[in-house]
Amino acid sequence: MAKYKLEYIWLDGYTPVPNLRGKTQIKEYASFPTLEELPLWGFDGSSTQQAEGRSSDCVLKPVAIYPDTTRKNGAIVMCEVMMPDGTTPHPTNARATILDDPGAWFGFEQEYFLYQDGRPLGFPVDGFPKIGQGPYYCGVGYKFMGDIARQIVEEHLDLCLDAGINHEGINAEVAKGQWEFQIFGKGSKKAADEMWVARYLLNRVCEKYGIDVEYHCKPLGDTDWNGSGMHANFSTEYLRTKGGKEYFEALMGAFADHVEEHIAVYGPDNHMRLTGLHETQAIDKFSYGVADRGASIRIPHSFVKGDKYQGYLEDRRPNSQGDPYQIASRILKTISLVPTP
Ligand code: ADP
Ligand code: MN
Ligand code: MN
Ligand code: MN
Ligand code: MN
Repeated sequence: MAKYKLEYIWLDGYTPVPNLRGKTQIKEYASFPTLEELPLWGFDGSSTQQAEGRSSDCVLKPVAIYPDTTRKNGAIVMCEVMMPDGTTPHPTNARATILDDPGAWFGFEQEYFLYQDGRPLGFPVDGFPKIGQGPYYCGVGYKFMGDIARQIVEEHLDLCLDAGINHEGINAEVAKGQWEFQIFGKGSKKAADEMWVARYLLNRVCEKYGIDVEYHCKPLGDTDWNGSGMHANFSTEYLRTKGGKEYFEALMGAFADHVEEHIAVYGPDNHMRLTGLHETQAIDKFSYGVADRGASIRIPHSFVKGDKYQGYLEDRRPNSQGDPYQIASRILKTISLVPTP
């Protein structure tokens, strides 16, 4: 038997974006525990904007477990927040609203800034770097990348891979101090779970460097410096194996009819980023196009090949601060409105 450190993590009730919370429970197991072996746990919802002071207990229901190699016998336990009865999802529990569909696949591209002393890592105390945007994207060399950014990014990548998170890649982004990683998952909740765990690990790695992760979609405001998105690539079994032009056009019709509902969960302050400039479509417009990075939804070349209209689509509107649970939930809801022949 060994004592395991189980870090139960969950999303709090802050709006418009939830924060990650976590606390450790020590339990004895013969080997690394399975999800079924993990007990429900509780927390004080009055401290997380999830309950009133008088009856403040909320329940943590484990939904996934990941090895945490930063701690001896460590594990991260992703949890849904439940009401005191343990079975009713809490109103802040967006994961519980995602339609179950093992055939749904999501790939999220998380962009973010590393921040130190209130400005992007590598920015001077006043003003902007002497070297403007251009050489940072996928860049190399101290004068562009600095010294600790890559150390953090690599450490985070290894922790995620150790945890079994399905990263597909990483890259330095357009602005100085800006980076991206991509996570892909099969099943309607898997990539979203792993995105939250990856964000948790990134935030934690950065603590020890005295660095913050800035997830805001336009942290440098109304300047020419790039903002951050979290493109949501998605497909269903039907889209991958049947598809077809008629179905695709009906699907895009449903997306066009629900622009407001999508934007509502695609992250705060998105009007600052979806301007119609910098490879974005305007926030109040909806468009789609082959290989069009100025469209709301980009259709990969592979999708239209041979006029099949089969494969995955990229919704470019979700931003870096968006909740992947709410995003996946909304996309699947809109897809479910369109009957498959
Ligand atoms: P880009 O920056 O050009 O948009 P990326 O490589 O950063 O491209 O991201 C593409 C994303 O598409 C990846 O996260 C990948 O997992 C995802 N993806 C690829 N195929 C599928 C699919 N069939 N269903 C859902 N997502 C997919
Ligand atoms: Mn206590
Ligand atoms: Mn990308
Ligand atoms: Mn990118
Ligand atoms: Mn993309």
